[in-house]
Amino acid sequence: MNTVPPSTRHGTGQEQFLTILSREEALARFEEALFPRQAPTEKRVLSETLGLALAEDVAAPVDVPPFDRSNVDGFALRAADLAAASQACPVRLVLNAESIACGTVPKISVLAGTATPIATGGPLPRGADAIVMVEHTHPAEAGAIEVRRAVSPGQFVSSAGSDMARGEVLLRAGTVIGSREIGMLAACGIARIAVVRKPRVAILSTGDELLQPGESLRQAAIYDANGPIISAAVTENGGEANFLGAFPDDEAKLEAAMRDALAVHDVLILSGGTSKGAGDVSHRIIGRLGKPGIIAHGVALKPGKPLCLAVCDGKPVIILPGFPTSAMFTFHDMIVPVLRRIAGLPPRVDAQVAVQVPFRIPSELGRTEFVMVSLVQGQEELVAYPTGKGSGAITSFAQADGFIRIEALADHMPAGLGVQVTLFTPQVRIPDLVIIGSHCIGLDLVVGALSANGTSVRSLAVGSLGGLAAARRGECDLAPMHLFDAKTRSYNTPFLGDGIELVPGWRRMQGLVFRPGDRRFEGRGVEEAISGALADPDCLMVNRNQGSGTRILIDQLLGPARPDGYWNQPRSHNAVAAAVAQERADWGVTIAPVARAAGLGFIPLTEEHYDFALVSARKERPAVQAFLAASQSPEIHAALERAGFVPAA
Ligand code: AMP
Ligand code: MG
Repeated sequence: MNTVPPSTRHGTGQEQFLTILSREEALARFEEALFPRQAPTEKRVLSETLGLALAEDVAAPVDVPPFDRSNVDGFALRAADLAAASQACPVRLVLNAESIACGTVPKISVLAGTATPIATGGPLPRGADAIVMVEHTHPAEAGAIEVRRAVSPGQFVSSAGSDMARGEVLLRAGTVIGSREIGMLAACGIARIAVVRKPRVAILSTGDELLQPGESLRQAAIYDANGPIISAAVTENGGEANFLGAFPDDEAKLEAAMRDALAVHDVLILSGGTSKGAGDVSHRIIGRLGKPGIIAHGVALKPGKPLCLAVCDGKPVIILPGFPTSAMFTFHDMIVPVLRRIAGLPPRVDAQVAVQVPFRIPSELGRTEFVMVSLVQGQEELVAYPTGKGSGAITSFAQADGFIRIEALADHMPAGLGVQVTLFTPQVRIPDLVIIGSHCIGLDLVVGALSANGTSVRSLAVGSLGGLAAARRGECDLAPMHLFDAKTRSYNTPFLGDGIELVPGWRRMQGLVFRPGDRRFEGRGVEEAISGALADPDCLMVNRNQGSGTRILIDQLLGPARPDGYWNQPRSHNAVAAAVAQERADWGVTIAPVARAAGLGFIPLTEEHYDFALVSARKERPAVQAFLAASQSPEIHAALERAGFVPAA
């Protein structure tokens, strides 16, 4: 096997990963280079130990309780005095001239024939060997009580050390401190304990394009998502996260930052720059930071192939892939086990649940693939919908309930297969209402109103046809759609089929968009604008994907013409608006609310119908009724109109 790390063969700009390790092999090598290791420990005050691992066994320094203690409000007495007591034959005891509250040191001995009032938690006075509850006594004449039942010695008394005996080992090294452990330690007076010090983790984002949240977006820039996500995930897994910011792809500056970080941290985690493109420099630096250097660069994972694992003079140095979803997966799958082990914490155990796969999921042969899924209740089993928008999409991670794993040797998962989902949360969250189909910002208004009233809604964007298929399989309540039938020249109704009815939604005005001030379009009618655009060789269009209603419209407008830009075919209304706003195209067709939000000029064309396919069998469900009521309410209609939609009558 070729063991020369490919990262040392740089200089040509675009390189290939020559040594791809399996996930298992990469993790094994990484752990072998890091463990065993001496965990640094520190003393901490109790209140600052939550979630940390105990570094040494802890024994009780005192007895708990420290003295014989009453467990009830009552009277301390000698059990022998009541040996003959019964309903018929009450025993009279004279009260001693003190009352023992919590924190009171008793002064008077309990002699035969006497009793001392005592509160729950009060120390047992000398001579007493049992407590009788106040409810089981009767006041006699001044200064005495009557008891009509016998008691056994030791009744309602907790003896010294019965909870924790001095010298007894209470907690073993390695125990993770929770509130119960803190309670136990506090009860025996321990103020500080030795714990495994949290590993100090430096987090650093790389990329010329990165801005921090809060900064204003400039052209070609994106917000740094990895820095905040990784910092939070480090904290969640027992590390002390220190986010150092985003650094440009400048080898000298990055190397200085990495060296500074390594000097004062136990772990260094970067993201981005690990592919083998010309601008990817971070992996080149690692070889110079310490021995043995890179352990794995290129792991047979999907997402996450460019992951780079290194150890520099005993410290793990990790470069996560730049795409946020890839960064998250590789962090959870490959870094969390190591981080927790360094922190002295046990491996993470995630809940799993059995589900069915709704359709065939293709997978790349040779890579362990993680597919994020959202769960919905099918007719019998839970069904797991891939939420994938690709590894570049942050929402595919944030909105998923968990993931399924497709082994490296499989090239797909067949429809209907039963598999396990690893959950991101301790329990499955089954929503009240499931909406699967085409997404629209108008839908967010309805869902928002439902959520505010306590109905939990899951809305999965899989396109109109995907939603209809889910409705037919009984996996959703409603399927939003905007399908144009060219034969009948009508929307949606021709597609429904048995057991599915139409709930009218709203109309979305489709129109031609352009940048305000563009004289080729401004103030012109549709035909004039199109013929002008076709006549101008510099006028670039942006199209839509085959199968979309908008595409049918565009093809009608163009006839046989194929102007420049025709093959640019994005899949969403927003992408069209962004292309025109950012001057990558001069015109396209999108819906009015999107054009308005992007600040574009708009020439109206025709109305698109956005409606809902309702599974008739589910119509009476309370959540469906709530949806119908909300979508027809005057408030929602007004909100839809404000956003630029026209509610269906
Ligand atoms: P790279 O591995 O640097 O080539 O990055 C791969 C992709 O991930 C590029 O689209 C980057 O813009 C993106 N990316 C890199 N770092 C981040 C980050 N910190 N937050 C969000 N996206 C990122
Ligand atoms: Mg980069």
